[in-house]
Amino acid sequence: MAAFPSLTIRADALVPHGAFAEAQAAFLAPDPATVAELDALLERLGVGVVAHFYMDPELQGVLASCAASRIRISDSLMMADAAVKMADEGARSIVVLGVDFMAENVRAMLDVAGHASVPVYRVAVEPIGCSLAEAARSPAYAAYLDEASRTPRSLHVVYINTSLDVKAHAHATVPTITCTSSNVVATILQAFAQIPDVHVWFGPDTYMGHNVEELLRGVTELDDDTARRLHPSHDRASLRSLLQRFHTFEQGACVVHHLFGEQVVAQVERDHGDAFVTAHFEVPGEMFRLALRAQRAGRGVVGSTSNILDFIRRKLAARLSGADAGTGPLRFVLGTEAGMITSIVRDMQRALRDAGAVELEVEIVFPVAADAVARTGDEALPIVPGVAGGEGCSTAGGCATCPFMKMNSLDALYELLRGVDAREAGLARFHPRLYGRRLDGRSVAELGGEPILHMRAFGETGRLSEALVADVLGRRGAA
Ligand code: SF4
Repeated sequence: MAAFPSLTIRADALVPHGAFAEAQAAFLAPDPATVAELDALLERLGVGVVAHFYMDPELQGVLASCAASRIRISDSLMMADAAVKMADEGARSIVVLGVDFMAENVRAMLDVAGHASVPVYRVAVEPIGCSLAEAARSPAYAAYLDEASRTPRSLHVVYINTSLDVKAHAHATVPTITCTSSNVVATILQAFAQIPDVHVWFGPDTYMGHNVEELLRGVTELDDDTARRLHPSHDRASLRSLLQRFHTFEQGACVVHHLFGEQVVAQVERDHGDAFVTAHFEVPGEMFRLALRAQRAGRGVVGSTSNILDFIRRKLAARLSGADAGTGPLRFVLGTEAGMITSIVRDMQRALRDAGAVELEVEIVFPVAADAVARTGDEALPIVPGVAGGEGCSTAGGCATCPFMKMNSLDALYELLRGVDAREAGLARFHPRLYGRRLDGRSVAELGGEPILHMRAFGETGRLSEALVADVLGRRGAA
């Protein structure tokens, strides 16, 4: 199999290896006139932009080069927080660059924060879906929740990557709290620590559910101190006991992370044994196990996009401070969506420049098919997605790019902003779905926002809220 493409980052240069990396590097040096035009438009219109790390690299490259103060590229949780802050500071509208559930979460959190009058726009009229979010709308998921509702003391822990109406319907059926890939383990362990005999139903991401289960099972074979490091209220015995009441959904996957399978792992092990390994919690078991082994040896991380970025930052800081006495390039395998590269490059170059480290190199390896982008030989269109033979994604690594996220293009953003500028009628078609319907006497938007507020309360206090615990204990399942 051909070598994985990679991008070498130096303080003032990028050196791509392979056509896929060339494409990523090209987008990191956007046209200055485009940047200046977008900057001016955003400032003049008072628009705030919150974008996900997996955003289209061309658009991300331009946004990352803008000076406008109200631009934030982050994971999905921070997108909502950033939007609220922007509205607090006077943003007149918020554009969400991501998939639909992200825009819905931003809308819900702005409403809760008293900014119902600040419009939220997506950049597409058509739905921007997500294979994972859609899994939670399936009849199989309804049956899963139905079983949970018939089981006494059930708590549904739903991944934040789901739509607001899914969260609302789930919460109406079973007490529900959202989680992210960075707090999923802490949320589940806290629930088991705080609610005696609780059953936790996790979904819809099957790989993440299995990965959590495998992580906990693995710790039961280590020692009590390792268990307590995961959560102070747990030891090996409590983990063994809770695993019998931990349920996972079997039919939900992210199309991007699904690609990091057996062949990719074999090649990483063969060709990149010296590299740090990073992996998102959504990856299949083989990649998860590889990254978890690396994490336990201090040579990798499994977690959210933010956890991955923090890990890479820490490793570079250790090298720059001398705490890591290694020599040669710092090499990382990027086990998540390739759009992360924009934020990684910005961070690495800033740190390298600040430290005056002109010799040090950071290499990011994309474990994707080397031919995920192919050269055409055409000057006007030098590279195209997929292999020259026309096959596109493959089990050899695919292109590691989310087709839904890429529906957010630079052109679409411009078109929306021109409409905002001209105060065009019909901008409402860009709004997230509002879910004005009522469920259990409350609006779907309000009910769907509640699991997110439960997660925020947990984030602030380290404990599940009394209201959520009372809901779990108060609802009656079948005896
Ligand atoms: S990468 Fe795309 S398909 Fe996967 S969870 Fe994110 S939005 Fe959904």
